[in-house]
Amino acid sequence: MRGANPPASVGVIVLTMAARVPASKSPVARVLARRTVAAAAELVERLPDGRLKCYSCGHRCPIPEGREGVCRVRYNEGGVLKVPWGYVGAIQCDPIEKKPFFHALPGSDALSFGMLGCDLHCGYCQNWFTSQSIRDPQAVAPPRDVSPAGLAELAAECGAPTVVSTYNEPLITSEWAVGVFSEAKRRGLYTAYVSNGNGTPQVLDYIRPWIDFYKVDLKSMDDKHYRELGGVLANVLDTIQGIHDRGIWLEVLTLVIPGFNDSEDELRRAAAFVASVSKDVPWHVTAFHPDYKMTDRGGTPAATLVRAAEIGTEEGLRYVYAGNLPGRVGRWEDTRCPECGTTVIERYGFRVRRNRLVAGACPKCERPVPGRWDARVEGTTRTNGIPLPVF
Ligand code: SF4
Repeated sequence: MRGANPPASVGVIVLTMAARVPASKSPVARVLARRTVAAAAELVERLPDGRLKCYSCGHRCPIPEGREGVCRVRYNEGGVLKVPWGYVGAIQCDPIEKKPFFHALPGSDALSFGMLGCDLHCGYCQNWFTSQSIRDPQAVAPPRDVSPAGLAELAAECGAPTVVSTYNEPLITSEWAVGVFSEAKRRGLYTAYVSNGNGTPQVLDYIRPWIDFYKVDLKSMDDKHYRELGGVLANVLDTIQGIHDRGIWLEVLTLVIPGFNDSEDELRRAAAFVASVSKDVPWHVTAFHPDYKMTDRGGTPAATLVRAAEIGTEEGLRYVYAGNLPGRVGRWEDTRCPECGTTVIERYGFRVRRNRLVAGACPKCERPVPGRWDARVEGTTRTNGIPLPVF
């Protein structure tokens, strides 16, 4: 068994009847309403006035009968909180460095899957075709029916040791993730979230037995910016701390957007916060490219990214990476031993060129490098982001 042991039951009830859906639902949401289960008991509370309070993300929506939450994929029908189940909106097998995880099974593949919908509405989202498909008619990603066992088997067939919930916000579809992860665990696979971090203690406790790695996008240190995106900064900071406190392997990413979050002060506050959680948490600063509704500015210059990485180091972080500009950010793609400076993992973009770690430690001074290492599966990448023609 490679990852953590799962508990005996995933605690959801599959609904077999087609659901009556709120009249407010979009056409896409009405299609998805046939693919639902009742929410996990851990993620819903019945309020005295009959509303259902959802704890799957930081919005903590109190949802009246016949209405949906902010995410528009969880809704109250007849006093039952219905939540997504049984489909994917996107699926692909590609290097785990693309998520990005740099301290988890380097050079291996990950089977990535996503549903539809999000609790935020970022104008620069690079996965807008899945995340915004319920709000935006331009975003089209038809759901394809699949079972948790089918997804786990596909990962095994692809030779991917990790299954990742990504492409939309995994927190809002946590029951489905736990269903898939429980099957993945039965097959000895690792599991991961790529998430905006707008979580709650309840949802972290719910997924904790099933999840190995967690990447959070820390989008800004300005609460005003978070509210423009539909979130609250404090929820994200609390979730980052909560992930680390629960012993889940954590990496944090900040997409550096010109004119949005690229000031020296804001980058320094982000780095200082990550360092306050642990100086061993990898911090990825990555380049923005114009996408979706944010096309009014150019991409992040390499010099800005390198400066952001330097700020991370100045704030005490031991593992800082500059991403999305392969070959243009010097040493900031590699992992170096903080003790003796030896380059222990060399990368170019998502590719691991050389992994010199020995049992998770520097080959020269033997200082352990924090992460999740497994020599049985590292360096086995076979794919290059090829979409899977399945289902
Ligand atoms: S997942 Fe978040 S946005 Fe969706 S209903 Fe639950 S609390 Fe509201």
